[in-house]
Amino acid sequence: MTALDERVQQAAALVRRRIEAAGGDPEAVQLLAVTKGQPVDAVAAAAAAGLADVGESYVQELTSKAEQLAGLAGGPPAVRWHLIGRLQRNKVRQAAPYVHLWQSIDRLSVAAEVANRAPGAAVLVQVNVTGSDQQGGCPPARVPAVVEACTDLGLDVRGLMAIGAQGNDAEVRAGFRTVRDLADRLGLPERSMGMSGDLEIAVGEGSTMVRVGTALFGPRGGSQPVGN
Ligand SMILES: *Cc1c(COP(=O)(O)O)cnc(C)c1O
Repeated sequence: MTALDERVQQAAALVRRRIEAAGGDPEAVQLLAVTKGQPVDAVAAAAAAGLADVGESYVQELTSKAEQLAGLAGGPPAVRWHLIGRLQRNKVRQAAPYVHLWQSIDRLSVAAEVANRAPGAAVLVQVNVTGSDQQGGCPPARVPAVVEACTDLGLDVRGLMAIGAQGNDAEVRAGFRTVRDLADRLGLPERSMGMSGDLEIAVGEGSTMVRVGTALFGPRGGSQPVGN
């Protein structure tokens, strides 16, 4: 075990305790390790800590890490890649061989391309509860139509994903509650919500998957790749 492996294992235990303290069943709330902006070693450390589900925001970063890991002596760690960042249609083909769960489906053109390149793929529809365009997601009122269109395309819609609102706790909570209500109405089991800073609120509102980066790996280094 490397020093990084040990740090991540300890950090994961702390995050699991936070989930539990917020009233979540640590067995029922999945912990997705977000490795964007972290070196490829972070992915191996997550896997070593039992976090086999790993999230990346940028297609290029995801594929480059997956390829680096594939070249490891002894074979790559067994990880399931989740794409959680804003997705462009022209990046879908490149990502398709790797992605286990597409978490950021927010419009029909992207859904159609995913259905084309990865027929039957598991997806989440991203809901925009912040009102900010930057973060992607479709407005709550559009969610039923996007979910239906994804299903019609043969995609396996598991649930909804959202980035918490920027604001006070009440605003953050209201956003997550919107997601939960929509998921309940549509009969969708998965609610991917909550990050390092707001996971307690998300768990309180019924999150089934928290996406955690900095609380596991520390601050992200370097600049984010552009053009994605
Ligand atoms: C970066 C990111 C995260 C993780 O954020 P942290 O604050 O580092 O935990 C989760 N979800 C999405 C969509 C992200 O882009």
